[in-house]
Amino acid sequence: MRIGVFADVHANLEALEAVLGILRQQGVTHFACCGDIVGYGPDPGRCCDIICQLRCPVVAGNHDYGVLGRTRVADFNPDAAAALRWTREQLTEDRLLLLDGLPLTTVRKPLLLVHGSPSAPEQWEYIFTVREAEEEMRHFSEDICIVGHTHYPFAVAKPAGQPAQLIRAQSFQLAPGVKYLVNAGSVGQPRDGDPRACGLVLDTTNRTITFFRVPYDVARVQRKIIAAGLPESLAARLAVGR
Ligand code: ZN
Repeated sequence: MRIGVFADVHANLEALEAVLGILRQQGVTHFACCGDIVGYGPDPGRCCDIICQLRCPVVAGNHDYGVLGRTRVADFNPDAAAALRWTREQLTEDRLLLLDGLPLTTVRKPLLLVHGSPSAPEQWEYIFTVREAEEEMRHFSEDICIVGHTHYPFAVAKPAGQPAQLIRAQSFQLAPGVKYLVNAGSVGQPRDGDPRACGLVLDTTNRTITFFRVPYDVARVQRKIIAAGLPESLAARLAVGR
């Protein structure tokens, strides 16, 4: 079975469609989403509908709860907060209920899905370093935890009784007795300097994880952001992936 895992769509319809297109081309039949469907981008409703139609496990991100007031809007930077207020006005009651129903974590063996950190999913902490990833690995028992939130793809492996290590390969084999903490990167607002949409494929038969990047029509999304009256910085950053 091939599972397409993605995170941080951030209401970027063009990026989401590009990701789902490439995943289906690659024979992916199952999906999982690590949160932040909405926030920043111009198509929150359509992105909610498409992800809902996938009927896949989805966890909540801080922006998904932020729209509902379940995370204080004051905790977001001014551009993010402005986008959250705008997003709330765009979403129908059905879509708000969908976001409200998202759990903080979900397990679909062999995966644990969480947006921020497994140790405190409700606190939206960021995992940036191998040391932070290693500490987080003490807080889950599944073989693989996939997170989002930082918008930086990475993978860290920890063989039993040994220190955790960063995996530098774009594709890698899952070894028995090794625990993994993986960030799926961001579909709709990458911040690692590569503006292409990001995600990964878990192949449970071959036991591999493979990251992918896919280009999409950034200029079109930028025009929509400006036309919606969202902060212009949210459009500009998409072109550079920062
Ligand atoms: Zn995010």
